[in-house]
Amino acid sequence: TSVRYDSQNIFAKILKKEIPAKTIYENEYVLAFHDVAPKAPIHALVIPKNPYTSYADFSQRAAPEEIVAFTKAVAHVANLLGLDKDGYRIISNIGRNSGQEVFHFHFHILGGKKLPFA
Ligand code: 5GP
Repeated sequence: TSVRYDSQNIFAKILKKEIPAKTIYENEYVLAFHDVAPKAPIHALVIPKNPYTSYADFSQRAAPEEIVAFTKAVAHVANLLGLDKDGYRIISNIGRNSGQEVFHFHFHILGGKKLPFA
């Protein structure tokens, strides 16, 4: 996908604290917060602090330590939310066909019930 990073996107505003979010976890590289319109009993979002439009962009441009930190943070956040025992789903939408709405890279973490497919 060939989307330009828009520094006024909603997650950029959350990172700048221009709009509030319910933070779950934060470190040097990532921020995790609850989705404002949860699609499951637990629905969290994990985002890198640096600007990437999607997983495709992140995977190509992020520094190795950033990729490691992000990968570990996703599982850590799931554990913080108590999802490790019963399991959970991680999703990332990439581009138009996926229905991606916010063009700041994020993983969704979904759990808290037996999830339907798709
Ligand atoms: P996408 O479709 O881009 O993969 O997912 C974007 C997600 O961001 C959606 O699940 C949507 O509910 C969530 N979202 C959109 N705006 C806000 C917001 O202002 N705050 C929070 N916490 N989540 C948001």
